[in-house]
Amino acid sequence: MTQELHIVGGGMAGSEAAWQAANRGISVVIHEMRPKVETFAHKTGDLGEMVCSNSFRSDDHEQNAVGLLHWEMREAGGLIITTAHQHRLPAGGALAVDRDAFSAAITARLHAHPNVRVSHEEVTELPDDGYWIFATGPLTSAALGQAIQRETGTDRLAFFDAIAPIVYFDSIDMSKAWLQSRYDKGETEEEQRAYINCPMDKAQYDAFIDALLAADKTEFHEGETAGYFDGCLPIEVMSERGRETLRHGPMKPVGLTNPHAPDVKPWAVVQLRRDNALGTLYNIVGFQTKMKYGAQADVFRTIPGLENASFARLGGIHRNTFLNSPTLLDDQMRLRSKPNIRFAGQVTGVEGYVESSAMGLLSGRMAAAEMTGASLPTVPQDSAHGALIYHITGGAEAKTFQPMNVNFGLFRPVDGLKGGRRGRKDRYKAYTDRAKDAWSDWLAAQEPIQSAAE
Ligand SMILES: Cc1cc2nc3c(=O)[nH]c(=O)nc-3n(C[C@H](O)[C@H](O)[C@H](O)COP(=O)(O)OP(=O)(O)OC[C@H]3O[C@@H](n4cnc5c(N)ncnc54)[C@H](O)[C@@H]3O)c2cc1C
Repeated sequence: MTQELHIVGGGMAGSEAAWQAANRGISVVIHEMRPKVETFAHKTGDLGEMVCSNSFRSDDHEQNAVGLLHWEMREAGGLIITTAHQHRLPAGGALAVDRDAFSAAITARLHAHPNVRVSHEEVTELPDDGYWIFATGPLTSAALGQAIQRETGTDRLAFFDAIAPIVYFDSIDMSKAWLQSRYDKGETEEEQRAYINCPMDKAQYDAFIDALLAADKTEFHEGETAGYFDGCLPIEVMSERGRETLRHGPMKPVGLTNPHAPDVKPWAVVQLRRDNALGTLYNIVGFQTKMKYGAQADVFRTIPGLENASFARLGGIHRNTFLNSPTLLDDQMRLRSKPNIRFAGQVTGVEGYVESSAMGLLSGRMAAAEMTGASLPTVPQDSAHGALIYHITGGAEAKTFQPMNVNFGLFRPVDGLKGGRRGRKDRYKAYTDRAKDAWSDWLAAQEPIQSAAE
């Protein structure tokens, strides 16, 4: 094997990608800019550094989609997950780790691997040839960010996310809400009914604004706001600018008729827009927020129709460099305009240590298969890895694309199971059983590892 695989970024995704490819006989060079070039969040020059929390979240692989990703990564011999288990701390059902021991072990295991070389340098261009995986994360260096924008166009690489909460469709009370686009716009009936509308009267609106203003908020980290712009203001900041601002902005009650009360004009309307092709997830339009998670659930459940809402994810605004993957990447995570380059990790629009590692795992295997001519079956959509990669490279709405955690709303429904809260336990077990079968079959169909290091 004369060709090398270059991996830029030795965080969660880059470390995992390197491990997977190196274990398939590929010669890997990890280019990690730290400690020479620092970020505002990282503190060391180690590989696999956890920038904030020391938790990989739930380890429950029967009832939780993150736990299912853990399971799948364990089955695939994942570096991040197996090292996390070796350095586990007591944390109930969560997988929390001793962060220093964890990243020291990731660093040591990669340095000890005969197929891996680590080079501490910043990469500032997207090369025209060779095999590359860019896993530079939410804090991709400025020079590289500019190079990516030169390739993709400035509107395809964001530097902040502006995440509105996402609700499971089957938890919305459609006896209060209704489907309609403003002024019934659209050519087809589907487009004319593209939004879910939740009406408010004046008293409900006033109470909602009071709750927004009173809610606990999170702050930006030090250094995080560089480059922040006014275009993605949190709803609570909009409401601080005037109690009527939201009613004239995302909550304006115009162009809509409530079929449950056609003669009553709502004072304000909260709109939700479909977030995935499956139609299982809806985001609350314009509701990016920096309210704390507990406060968000309380405030949003005061919206008529959302009293029993289950949230696939809550809102947030963070410094976060990410691509518009649905338009830029193919299903192998290659840049359509430069297929010698793959992206992996948070920069592809997944969010979290676990999801980023999972995308690293896939990209490492995909690159290795391409370089060795080995066959790699399509990642099964029913697995947690498949649900995520399908979402970012195809299933998500490209126009409103925002980073996504893994959650059961990304999975294809299992037929014949009860909807709503009551059926949830059986439904989740059915998703995870189906995913495990699909993932095991996918792993079994791959060629055996050529050289493994421990
Ligand atoms: C402030 C902050 C707090 C966060 N807190 C959490 C949390 O608590 N829990 C959670 O699950 N997720 C959290 N995240 C998200 C977290 O960053 C990701 O989940 C995870 O680290 C992403 O993995 P990654 O491999 O994609 O990126 P990273 O782990 O960030 O790795 C990217 C690597 O690329 C390197 N790099 C960047 N540009 C270049 C370049 N041009 N050349 C060479 N190297 C480069 C960086 O130094 C870094 O080591 C947080 C993010 C931020 C910014």
